[in-house]
Amino acid sequence: YNVPKAINETVKSYAPGTLEREQVLATFKEMYNTTVDVPLYIGSEEIRTGNTRNINPPFDHKKVVGVFHQAEKAHVEKAIAAALEAKPKWAAMAWEQRASIFLKAAELLAGPYRAKINAATMIAQAKTVHQAEIDSACEFIDFLRFNVEFMTQIYAEQPISSEGIWNRMEHRPLEGFVYAITPFNFTAIAGNLPSAPALMGNVVVWKPSAAQVYSANVIMEVFKLAGLPDGVINMVHGNPGMISETLTSSRDLAGVHFTGSTDVFNNLWTMIGQNINIYKSYPRIVGETGGKDFVIAHPSSIPAQVSTALSRGAFEYQGQKCSAASRAYIPQSIWPTVKDLLVKDLASMKMGSPEDPSNFVSAVITEASFDKLARYIDTAKGAKDAEIVAGGNYDKSVGYFIEPTVIVTTNPKYDTMCTELFGPVLTIYVYEDAKWSETLKLVDETSPYALTGAVFSQDRYAIEEATKALENSAGNFYINDKPTGAVVGQQPFGGARASGTNDKAGSILNLVRWVSPRTIKETF
Ligand code: GLU
Repeated sequence: YNVPKAINETVKSYAPGTLEREQVLATFKEMYNTTVDVPLYIGSEEIRTGNTRNINPPFDHKKVVGVFHQAEKAHVEKAIAAALEAKPKWAAMAWEQRASIFLKAAELLAGPYRAKINAATMIAQAKTVHQAEIDSACEFIDFLRFNVEFMTQIYAEQPISSEGIWNRMEHRPLEGFVYAITPFNFTAIAGNLPSAPALMGNVVVWKPSAAQVYSANVIMEVFKLAGLPDGVINMVHGNPGMISETLTSSRDLAGVHFTGSTDVFNNLWTMIGQNINIYKSYPRIVGETGGKDFVIAHPSSIPAQVSTALSRGAFEYQGQKCSAASRAYIPQSIWPTVKDLLVKDLASMKMGSPEDPSNFVSAVITEASFDKLARYIDTAKGAKDAEIVAGGNYDKSVGYFIEPTVIVTTNPKYDTMCTELFGPVLTIYVYEDAKWSETLKLVDETSPYALTGAVFSQDRYAIEEATKALENSAGNFYINDKPTGAVVGQQPFGGARASGTNDKAGSILNLVRWVSPRTIKETF
């Protein structure tokens, strides 16, 4: 198959004096001083129900940058009907035409829409410009481009034939519609979850997170401008329980493409289980959920490498990545050095609005998230078996600001060593050097999740031991690197256990879930 060779989009620097910096800051300002009115996109219609919610930047929560309209049950049903109506023509379209639409979307994001998608992600999701660039520009563009290449690999997967017999495989889309549910923390994931199934000929009803609606609206604008036909991807907002209940009680539900919390995913799975007799086909359930991602350093590791991995892995984007380092195991021998470096690093991290590119961190996403994190920090302040060695302050008067916080505990099963917090709080357990092997066991047993993890060591035997001992503890395992920042096409992403179905986003293994092949044998 002849498709453009996918290569990863280059991350722009946004250094002072660069054109991209000037453009993104100008776009930020312009968008910040206007308001958007985000509709539901159902078929060819933009529906404004009048039942609206405000969109507020997390770092300046009194400011209103727009509203979004919420659906009633009838709108969700209408979205299913619109998707099913669009289906026959879309599924029958030559794959090259479908691919072209998404490749065009990638070009729009790489060029004329780069500043807008990044500014939207900075404003409503409180990402710094660098975090927005690696997500809403580069990763999103990579998903779109690489998926086209993976698609051709799937189509090329054909059985063998023999004399007088032609066996072939038709990679049909699923029969029905796909329900895409997307999180606030990655604009790229919000874009990929509906577009990956659509590329394979499926139609989609998409519900973005309420906290990401603002950039989701830009995604719809880009898809439409790229030529996506009406009804192929329908976007709805509103009560998540009602939307999920309505969609999972349709007999045409053919798949779920989910990223979000383990609890919500479990609820969805339960709803589908309860309805199992109504479906035309078994719905494909693909989900990436929570994480309690670890860093374990061996006594042979380089302290500066470990501390950089912790400060970046735990605190970039305020720790709101499923992949964020949130528990670390550091040997006593190097702990004083790691601690010094880490505390210094954190003290130099500026916090504030993403409009100032020198800020390294910004606010957490919502008040609920802020309150929860503040509670955990307060508990650590009063705990006998824990101590806060950096950060620990918070303030929600203007934005939901939580200082990057490091808790050190003497209890390897301390609550924040086990529970996912999804914020800028890292918990560290300092272990005796001689207990390296026992500590590996502890890493594996402490959390129900298995998303990402990292080992640091200069000793190849120790690296091998960790790689084996932690075989099932992470779907993305890093050696001498932080556990975040998976790149499409380079580190296919996803984990098992309570972290999801491990259908590796950014690889052929994800895309293959969106086809239902038919094998045809013809005898001559
Ligand atoms: N793929 C992202 C990373 O490697 C994390 C995705 C997520 O948070 O869901 O950092």
